[in-house]
Amino acid sequence: MASHSVGYDDTPFLPDSQWRVHDGKRPQPPIVTPGSESSPEKPGQPPSDAIILFDGSDLSPWKGRDGTAQWKVADGYMEVAPRTGNIETKLHFGDCQLHVEWAAPAVVKGDSQGRGNSGVFLMGLYEIQVLDCYDNPTYADGTTGGIYGQYPPLVNACRKPGEWQTYDIIFVAPRFDGDQLVSPAYVTVILNGVLLHHHQAIMGPTGHRTLTSYDETRATTGPLMLQDHGDLVRFRNIWMRPLKGYDEA
Ligand code: MG
Repeated sequence: MASHSVGYDDTPFLPDSQWRVHDGKRPQPPIVTPGSESSPEKPGQPPSDAIILFDGSDLSPWKGRDGTAQWKVADGYMEVAPRTGNIETKLHFGDCQLHVEWAAPAVVKGDSQGRGNSGVFLMGLYEIQVLDCYDNPTYADGTTGGIYGQYPPLVNACRKPGEWQTYDIIFVAPRFDGDQLVSPAYVTVILNGVLLHHHQAIMGPTGHRTLTSYDETRATTGPLMLQDHGDLVRFRNIWMRPLKGYDEA
């Protein structure tokens, strides 16, 4: 850091803060080296402070139904191994920034919810739908990027089956005070650079054909879970940045 003084010490204090406007003593933001964009052929580089959850080579950060994650790993991607079950990270997270890349099967098979179905479950509870919605009608709250069973995405920004697609997700975990829900989970979802949800409040854990609420959970952290819905969906370049200090002024 530069040794010369910066900022001011005679400006007003910010509301409910120990810091003045342009306070010279306020700590500098930590330095993060940015990553790079992905291309269809090649995944990008994660930012320097990201936790790498899948770099294309192995599933050691993950576990499956019977311990070891059984999904296929080949050529820099993982692929759902149908009927081996969902997989989830060994690490648990709350508030975070998440990057996930996925591709629906190039060979189109099935329709509606039966075509390229998987899912990104935040905290293992809240599903952001993964589906091949390229020319594949289904119910709106089950389309690609839908908060399943709750909110359709703002738009359908799907690429063609077989093409790599990117999710960038900002997630805020729910807050509880004892048994009371203080604030729900919130999610912002960007698919292929297009905004699908902006700070959308989540109603509760994902269900199927049911209403949901926070009555059954008080969890404030959980794993990242990927869904085995029986389709050969692929994933690559998965990283997460826990948002420490999100609540701090
Ligand atoms: Mg799904």
